[in-house]
This record gives sequence, C-alpha cells and structure tokens, in this order.
Amino acid sequence: MNTFYVTTPIYYANSLPHLGHLYTMIVADTVARAKRQRGIETYFLTGTDEHGINIERAAQKAGRTPKEQADYVVSYYKKMTSEFALDTAHGGYDIFMRTTEPFHYEGVSELWRRIAKAKTPRGNDAIYKGHYEGWFCAPCAEYKTEDEYQKPANEGDPPTCLIHETPLDRVSEESYFFRLSDYDEALLSVYESRPDFVRPESRRNEVMSFVRGGLQDLSVSRLKTSVSWGVPVPDDPAHTMYVWFDALTNYITAIGFGNEEREQKVGFEKFWPALHLVGKDILRFHAVYWPAFLLAAGIELPRAIVAHGMWLDPNGRKMSKTLGNTIELDVLQKYFSIDAIRYFVLREMVFGQDGRFGYEGLIDRANSDLASGLGNLSSRTLTMIGKYCDGRIPSGVIAEDRLLQAKRAGIDTDQTTLAGFIETARDQYLLQFENLAFSRALETAWSIVSRADKMISDAKPWDLAKDENQKQTLSAVLYRAAETLRWLSVLLHPIMPGATQALWSQLGLEGSPAEINPSELKWGELKEGTAIADVQAIFPRIDKAKTMEQINADQKPSGAHATEADAVPGAPSATKPEPPMQHATEADAVGVTNYIEIDDFAKVDLRVGQVLSAERIPKADKLLLMKVDIGEEQPRQILAGIAQYYEPEQLVGRKVVIVANLKHRKLRGYESQGMVVAASYGEEGRPVIATFTEDVPNGARLK
Ligand SMILES: [Zn+2]
Repeated sequence: MNTFYVTTPIYYANSLPHLGHLYTMIVADTVARAKRQRGIETYFLTGTDEHGINIERAAQKAGRTPKEQADYVVSYYKKMTSEFALDTAHGGYDIFMRTTEPFHYEGVSELWRRIAKAKTPRGNDAIYKGHYEGWFCAPCAEYKTEDEYQKPANEGDPPTCLIHETPLDRVSEESYFFRLSDYDEALLSVYESRPDFVRPESRRNEVMSFVRGGLQDLSVSRLKTSVSWGVPVPDDPAHTMYVWFDALTNYITAIGFGNEEREQKVGFEKFWPALHLVGKDILRFHAVYWPAFLLAAGIELPRAIVAHGMWLDPNGRKMSKTLGNTIELDVLQKYFSIDAIRYFVLREMVFGQDGRFGYEGLIDRANSDLASGLGNLSSRTLTMIGKYCDGRIPSGVIAEDRLLQAKRAGIDTDQTTLAGFIETARDQYLLQFENLAFSRALETAWSIVSRADKMISDAKPWDLAKDENQKQTLSAVLYRAAETLRWLSVLLHPIMPGATQALWSQLGLEGSPAEINPSELKWGELKEGTAIADVQAIFPRIDKAKTMEQINADQKPSGAHATEADAVPGAPSATKPEPPMQHATEADAVGVTNYIEIDDFAKVDLRVGQVLSAERIPKADKLLLMKVDIGEEQPRQILAGIAQYYEPEQLVGRKVVIVANLKHRKLRGYESQGMVVAASYGEEGRPVIATFTEDVPNGARLK
C-alpha cells in the first residue's frame, strides 16, 4: 500500500484562525511533504466544520446567513494558508474540506444509514430514538454533565460552561441516540491491541481511563426546530444531525465515501485509513466517538490519532487576548520567513507536549540555528568554493602521495568516516521523523551541521589555500562540506521547503530536493565540476532589538494591553535583569597592579558582536576591515590589526567582544567605530580574539 492520508482537524467556522491552527497545518504539511519526497502518493486534508447552532448564532449576530458566515471565516483560513504557503498552489494541502459541500451531505447520510441498520456488539440497535434532557453548551456543541459545568451562584440561574464560562441552555427534546455504552469493550480492545492507535502514550492512558469509567449513549441529533443549520437525518428530516457526527465524517466523505464522483477523483479505497493530527482538547471526539461510529458502520479504523500540545507564552502561561500574550499571525507573516517559523515550531515543541512561543525566542532560534548555523555553513562553504575553486565543485579525492600532507593539515584522509557519520545520522533522523519526534530529528540534523563546521575549523581551508602542496586537501575539505550541504537540503526539505530549494540551487543542482528520496541518498553523488550559483544568505540575520521594537510598536495601537512582563503583576519575567555577577576577576587576577573601582569598569561598554563580513585592506597588511552586528540598527565598521593572524573567512559568523563606546577614529582613511577585544601573547603580541562558547544574542552587554 503505497499511499498515505494525513488530516488536520476541520476547524469550527465560528472564529478566525490563530497560531494553534497554523501549527497543526505546518505539522501536517511537513508530514505530507516527507511522504511525497519518499515517493508515496499522499493526500492532505484540512478544512472547516460549518454547521451547528453556534454558527447560526454568529451569523445572526453579524447579519449574515449561516453559509455567508462560513464563507467569511473560510476566506481568512484561505488567506492564512496562502500566506504561509500551505495551500495547493504552494504544494500544501490537497483539499480544503467544507462540511457544506453537497458530496459531504451524501456521504454523511450514507454513514448514518449504515449505523442505523447496525447492531452493537451486545446485539442492540446502534441508533435509537429517545428523549434527552440536559444542560447544553452551544459553543462546545455538547451536553454537559455535572462535573463539566459550574453550578450557579444563585439558585434558579443556569449553570455555566467550565470552558466558555457562558450560561448553559436547558434542553429537553426528542433525539436520536448512538448506543456508545455498548462499545466500551470493543474500544478498549482496539487501544490494547494497537498501542500506537492513540499517541502519545499519556493521551492514550487518558482515553483508556475515560472509556473504562463507562460510556454514556450519545445524543446524535437535535430537532430541526432547535438546530436547523446542519445535515438532516436521513428519512427523518425533522431532525438535524449532531454537529460532531457530521464533522468527523468529513475525513471519509472528502476522499469519496458515499459519493461515486469523489471516489473516482480521490479514492476512499485508495487512501483510507488516515493519520489524524488533533489538538489534545478534541482528543475524546477523535479517539472515542469517531472509532465507535466506524466500528458500528463496519469501516476500517484510522491509522492513528496523534494529539499535540498547546502553545503557551514564554512564561508558561496560556495565551489569551486579555493577557495580551498571543502570537499574531500577521506579525509572524510580516517579520519572519515561513521557513524560520516552520523550523521554530517543529524544533521548539516536543511533539505531544506543550511548547512555549515568544517572538524573542523565535528570533534567537532563527539567528543561532539558522543564520549562524546552517546558513553560515552554507555561505562560507560556497564562498570558499567561489574563491579557491573558480566557483566549481572541486574533487573530493586526495591522491595517495598527498595523503600524508592532508593528515598533517588535520583532515581525516578517509572520507568514509564523515560519510559514515552522516549516513548514520540520516537513518536516525528519518526514524525520529517517522515517529513525529521532530524536535529530536532536528537535533540530529544539526549534529551534521556541527560536524561539518568542525571539519572546516580544524582544516582551516584559508591556510591550505596558501600552500600549493595542499591543493588536494583544500579541495577535499570543500567537497565534503558541499556534499554535506546537499544531504542537508534533501533531509530538511519537508521542514523548510523554500530555504532548502535555495540552497540546492546555489549548489548548482538541477530540479528540487523534493524529488530526492532521502533514504536513497548516496555519499559522493555531488558531481565534481558543477558550477555553483551566486551565493546568497539563505537565512538573513534578524536584528533582534530593531525587530522587537517594531513588533511592540505594531501591537500598541491595537489594545491597551501592556507587555508580557507587565500583564500579570508579580509574574516571573523573562526580561528581569540578573543580579550582577560577583565572581571572577577582581581579587583573583594575577599580575594586575592598579586596581580600579567597579564604576571605572562600568565606563567601558563591552558588547557582544557578530562578524558579518571581513576583508583585507589594500596596502595595509596588518588590518582587517570588518562589519560587526552589535544589535544596533546598522552594523559597526571596525578595523583590527589582526590580518597576519586571521583569514577573513575564518571570522565571518564569529561572535566577538566589541568596545562599543570607544571614540571613533580613522585608520588608513577608514573610520573604525569600536574595537575588537583580543588577548595578546608572546613576544610578537599575537592576538587571540575573545569569543563565547554558548549562544548569546548580539548587543548583549558584558558586565
Ligand atoms: Zn462550553
């Protein structure tokens, strides 16, 4: 069976899309792209659930018909999927499913008829007519039991929904019931025999204990006089189907269940069963009710139901408009690349658990992992190929008589060592990816980035380039780095389609990494002599201070809410300054003669900077001209007398310490706007540039 079917929930069309919706779609999109890349015919569904009393009420309020109300909300979903490249035009979903589609009415009616004819495992009618009386929450679209509502403060008032905090409706009416109570054993045996049916395990346990606690029959219709906006019950149009019965069924009607035309076009037989991705808040509907309906109808159960966690703010609080700590889609769209957002959500949330999302965290990850990590590896590799190899992929082979020299230069003469490492990492990555452990898979991929980085720093191509005898060593190092980049662009393609395509093209490769099955990658298939394209930054650095300032300015007019830290008095703040460090220096310094007061030291403004570019200056053999980002609007231009000890390429991307408040001065006609801090040792005063071993944002002050 070489097909795959993945779904997001279909979203209830009574509110506009937000981060949670975007997240599930990104996960589904990533899964779909990965399957397609491996040659598996894949169908990806997302969409909207458009029936029910709640839509009726929202429509009434807005002066629209229910369908117009749904169309209005759908237009926002379509806008989001287009802006974030998740729609069909961008290689994303195959169908935006809507429960108002006529073929859906046909399919869901067919499912109802099948269940209505069925007997339960205990030999009863699966659907029966009865009377229901209870407290009903319209926004939840379900009746609430005693432990699911808040008792009223004054006797006589209705109770309120624990989720919505709105009054419940007392409903008593004729209703069709699905005999869910007869399916407990059947469901439990599914959960037991298929441990991967509900994931992660913690959620599976929750579901099992819910079912073990006993199931109540489910009211699956409302009188048309109460709820008219929905699918009529077949052969009894006085009843409207319960909105969840209708909505869940979309997963099979979309691909052709109960409609010949859809079956021809997509294929229920071909694609079912699906992998359902859901938020943990709607797990019960997907992991209990839906499988019970399918069991009753004699339809194969889903492949799996996987529940993901929720996004919290950086302080671990729930996001809400009142707290003003939500992540806005238009802000994401305006300031961040789609690939950076995709990378961040997949890297940051351990799939299945709750994750934390703040704009600052997104910028930090984009800068450290993407700009300084993969981006820097690709730009320095390609730049050196341009400079030392005439812009063509060099040979990776070191001749027998050059091996000793290569070894002396610190490179592993056997390239199968690196190839073996990367192949193992690839296998591990694919396995983790298959298990939806995206965060770990990305850690694995980044172990490849680090390995390649280390190979370059150890081999120092800029030194090798000076030695004619090391030409082959230099070529081999650059070949290996380029081949590593080719592998990474294939592996990471489902996660970052745009950036990996750009990297692929810059390597001079034809077509797309989408066409390469990662499990069939072979080391050494990058062809010698391939002309690389113009080198461009695939992940431009984000100026954190400036971007945060803009985001905060954008957000102010929209509401009175304060910044995250101010929103809750006394809440732990992410930006609270740390107490000044007391340890180090002062007393333990050896050989220091003139002590200064801390105030004297405070006069020196030391900042973390990152070298964006470095070049030699004509006729000044000691000076390097650098552009250094210290978190300000513009990078600083700084001259340093280190040209005899550092190659320019060696410095690009490196974190350094800058004296930011040193009076600007002119050297050889260039203005130097600060100074790079370096140790100086030996008789010749050899400089060693100070740096950091942990990631630290540009502009951070040293104290
Ligand atoms: Zn509710």
